[in-house]
Amino acid sequence: MNSDERDIVKKEIEKRIVETRNSIQELRELTKPIQPDVSLGRLTRMEAINEKSINEDSLRKAEHTLSGLESALSRIDDVDFGICLRCKDKIPSARILRVPESRVCVNCLK
Ligand SMILES: [Zn+2]
Repeated sequence: MNSDERDIVKKEIEKRIVETRNSIQELRELTKPIQPDVSLGRLTRMEAINEKSINEDSLRKAEHTLSGLESALSRIDDVDFGICLRCKDKIPSARILRVPESRVCVNCLK
């Protein structure tokens, strides 16, 4: 990866960190405990609980993504950034841009 590519990837990671942090914040709001006396409007309590568990699932995924992105950002200046952990091949920059938190190439993912 040359320094231009590195810059592009770095900006992309920083952008995604901001986006992921925002959605984590939203999801935290949505996964607050449901008060028994709260007025739920047209939602029944059961629906609210279902919704909450879906949001909790998304929250876990988002937190996982965020830690992957932050660790990718901290490794971006390493000589082996963009090198597959398993086969030691170069990971194509298109893939790095798509999933910057991934540390293996597509072949090793299987
Ligand atoms: Zn590989």
